[in-house]
Amino acid sequence: MTVSGSPAGIVDNAPADLDWMEEVYKWFHAHPELSGAEEQTAIRIRKELERFPDWEITPNLGGYGITAVLRNGDGPTVLMRADFDGLPVAEATDVDYASKHSQLNAQGERVPTMHACGHDHHTTSLLGAMAVLDSVRDKWSGTVIALFQPAEEASIGAHGMVSDGLTKAVPHPDVCLAQHVVAGPAGTVYTAPGPVMTSSTTIEITLFGRGAHASMPHRSVDPVVLAAATVMKLQTVVSREVPPNKFAVITVASVEAGKANNVIPDSARIALSCRFYDEDLRKKCVEAIKRIVRAEAMAAGADRDPEFKFVGLLGATDNTDEVYDVIRPAFDEAFGEDSVEMEPWTASEDFPVIPKAFGSPYMLWTVGITPRTQWERAEASGRLDIDIPTNHNPGFLPDLSTLQTSTRAAAVGILSCLAHDWPERDKAKPTMGAVPPTDAEIDAVAVETAQVN
Ligand code: ZN
Ligand code: ZN
Repeated sequence: MTVSGSPAGIVDNAPADLDWMEEVYKWFHAHPELSGAEEQTAIRIRKELERFPDWEITPNLGGYGITAVLRNGDGPTVLMRADFDGLPVAEATDVDYASKHSQLNAQGERVPTMHACGHDHHTTSLLGAMAVLDSVRDKWSGTVIALFQPAEEASIGAHGMVSDGLTKAVPHPDVCLAQHVVAGPAGTVYTAPGPVMTSSTTIEITLFGRGAHASMPHRSVDPVVLAAATVMKLQTVVSREVPPNKFAVITVASVEAGKANNVIPDSARIALSCRFYDEDLRKKCVEAIKRIVRAEAMAAGADRDPEFKFVGLLGATDNTDEVYDVIRPAFDEAFGEDSVEMEPWTASEDFPVIPKAFGSPYMLWTVGITPRTQWERAEASGRLDIDIPTNHNPGFLPDLSTLQTSTRAAAVGILSCLAHDWPERDKAKPTMGAVPPTDAEIDAVAVETAQVN
């Protein structure tokens, strides 16, 4: 017996003081920092961790990553992760804690920054859950690891913490948890077993032509026309090659070519973001992309083959059934009719890198943060897709009441996992994805797909 009582009952009767949370959240919200440059955010997290003198703190893991461990006797070890980076987005909300912050990006340009994905919310609610669990230590035993992760938006933060020794810095978790805020009626908690977030493959492609004077197109192989044709033809991968009942997204998110109005440039660059739940389908689509890009270059008469650079590979978030079976009943008790089934989300996460490094089961759930009146008005007029800001939108702003929801969800989720008898797993053997893909592995992906063509 490692937890005495129902998780929801323990959390709701906890004597923790959570009055500080709103001010801390507003500070994080007003001071968003870009992936890998979260210096002030990490300093503030460490300052807030001073509330918890019995937790062992390990700072500066993989950049600004931080872990906090509370060893509270025998029992399971549960890890919960919160990310804390912001995005290069100019906030367009009218609250008094809106971000007016800016920062230099990797290219040295000053860009406005915003917590447009709610990572400030994740971090504040994990601190809140720590306060709750700290205040009811006599009601549970085991070990809790709070993990604060940088650089999620760049898909490198979890890899960075793992490569910097995360598995040695903290006890081996029996289970890993994470949560993410999403557009949805405030206070709704969404859970599902199986794949809930997609894998992500980012490909940068350089198309080579032949430059010339803009008045002499016959002397060129025009890479702008080649890029335009390629972008259009790539639309047929999903519409003509993927079975209609299967999920796939191939977005050309960036097209760059030329600097002057009277020069046909000699190359163009396109960047693709591709999302899948199914790994076999991912491989098939990458092959199709390479086939189409090469064929279009040939059709244009290009002398030089296009170059493919695989700059990002993230696995799908595939919730472990056993963890879902433990947490869902606890959420049903805690949230009643607001505990609902999660629709798979087309975004991607680097969170699974952490459980994979330990070989642990895991689960990510989501929390709806849109003010209820705003949601209901949009729903009634059939304008949910238009009127409700999604993650990464300049108007994305969690209802303040949902800080309480995600704090409860984190505390209830952790407690329900502390109450479960987890089977022994092979702790020595981390699974694939434990370390970032090396250049050689990324090249191997390119070679592998090239060979199929
Ligand atoms: Zn995001
Ligand atoms: Zn996010």
